[in-house]
Amino acid sequence: MSPNSPLDPVATAATKAKLTELRDAFVQQAKSAGAGCSLDTPRIEITDVPSFGNYDPASNTLRISAWSLLKADQKKFFFHLAGPDADDEAAHRVFDRGTYSWVIVHELGHWWQACNASTQNNSHYQHEYDANRIAAAYWREHNPTLLQELTAGFTHILNGAPNPVPPGQTLEDYFNVNYEALAHSAHYVWFQARMVTDVSAEDPPPTFADALLHSSTKMK
Ligand SMILES: [Zn+2]
Repeated sequence: MSPNSPLDPVATAATKAKLTELRDAFVQQAKSAGAGCSLDTPRIEITDVPSFGNYDPASNTLRISAWSLLKADQKKFFFHLAGPDADDEAAHRVFDRGTYSWVIVHELGHWWQACNASTQNNSHYQHEYDANRIAAAYWREHNPTLLQELTAGFTHILNGAPNPVPPGQTLEDYFNVNYEALAHSAHYVWFQARMVTDVSAEDPPPTFADALLHSSTKMK
């Protein structure tokens, strides 16, 4: 960490301990789900990263952001989600809850996909949809109330922005064809929100083991 880092060492150590515990629980459960994984447990790094988190298969590293690393326009999004008159603490809480429960488990889903050669030819949409499906199944089993709250937050995001898919195109095709541009645009969160509400509504819902072992065939 550089001397000018905006990361508070005490808060960062506490976040890292919490994320490490969650990662270890996920990895242990994933490995006991019945399929082997050729990769080691991923390393966690708290750093400024686009869309608040990513998994890098080349270095087997899961990078995740922190409130103090966000730019003002990124923070604005969480102030909006926290509701009218939200103060910094309220917006920070919304960020922590979304990032350190949803984003981290979604990225662990990508780690799991990297373990499994069968997922390598999946489309961008299927890859993202399945990571969200794994995250939903994980929280459905571990903290269904949290899943409901997170889904409500994503529904709020979805309803607050227009559907960016042009008429006559399917959601999935549009996402796949425009993936590179979308991944760096403000629309990306809309697609993630749409996928989260779809996976949360899956009926019957897959178990965590099912979500890990079988890709979704119910695509939109
Ligand atoms: Zn993803």
